[in-house]
Amino acid sequence: MRRVAVLGAGTMGHGIAQAAAAAGFEVVLRDLEESFVEKGLRSIESNLNKGVERGKVTEEERARTLSNVRTTTRLEETTGSDLFVEAVPERLDLKRETLRAVERLNPAAFIFATNTSSLSISEIAEGARRPDLVVGLHFFNPVHLMRLIEIVVGRETSPETIEAVRAVAVRMKKEPIVVKDVPGFASSRLGVALGLEAMRMVEEGVAAAKDIDTAMELGYNHPMGPLRLTDLVGLDVRLHIAEYLHAKLGSERFRPPDILRRMVAEGKLGKKSGEGFYRWEEK
Ligand code: NAD
Repeated sequence: MRRVAVLGAGTMGHGIAQAAAAAGFEVVLRDLEESFVEKGLRSIESNLNKGVERGKVTEEERARTLSNVRTTTRLEETTGSDLFVEAVPERLDLKRETLRAVERLNPAAFIFATNTSSLSISEIAEGARRPDLVVGLHFFNPVHLMRLIEIVVGRETSPETIEAVRAVAVRMKKEPIVVKDVPGFASSRLGVALGLEAMRMVEEGVAAAKDIDTAMELGYNHPMGPLRLTDLVGLDVRLHIAEYLHAKLGSERFRPPDILRRMVAEGKLGKKSGEGFYRWEEK
């Protein structure tokens, strides 16, 4: 495994490219327009500069990482990569089209990893030439700081593919976990369940938001309580995921609480709107 192509240079794509380049892979980062790839590259530079300022990255690592990344708007220039990681927008048709386009250009075998946060890996792999080489590689935002990777195993993903991406994850200094292809994988399912229960407790007046968070922070050693985390993620984003998990898993546990719907309708979306379960001074 030497060459890694990252498709999509947005929030996730640029971070994945950075982590792969820092691990010594030859990376080609592709997006649709020059301005998008430039923005991705600037974000990588800025992350690395901050790392150097904080003493987490050496000057040499910064230079080496940057020299390992090439950017392009032409998919043809990703041809011959051993691993393709797609981080294009969350739409099944787009993920499938991306896989087809890569297949057309690459007669030789390659692993196709999708960074989807909610779609089914098996559905993305449907009709693929080699569904055994399709796998989920779910990174967390911000990629250069978050250590977790969920390796999501589709119906036909082979054990060799799992092992290959596990080795890549470890080389990127991440901690991989292996999860079945079920809605919400492991992380969202558990994280959202906790967040929704905390909201129901606010609704019932069990305790104030801050006290519920403190219970988890001090009682369970969570670095951040579930309501503060919801404010950071965005209440609208959480509502969307809860609706999706409720529909897919059919469990009442994921039915969005009224308080969540009401706050979203009132525009209380969390940090980005200035108010959620907390008031945020700067937006
Ligand atoms: P984003 O909108 O920031 O970036 C997507 C990029 O893909 C855009 O720059 C867009 O121009 C580009 N793009 C669109 N079509 C393309 C194509 N055919 N080829 C190459 N590039 C193309 O999105 P994001 O937040 O980075 O999310 C990407 C994926 O990662 C989604 O599947 C999302 O669910 C998943 N994800 C997101 C997060 C997060 O916190 N943002 C976390 C985990 C997983």
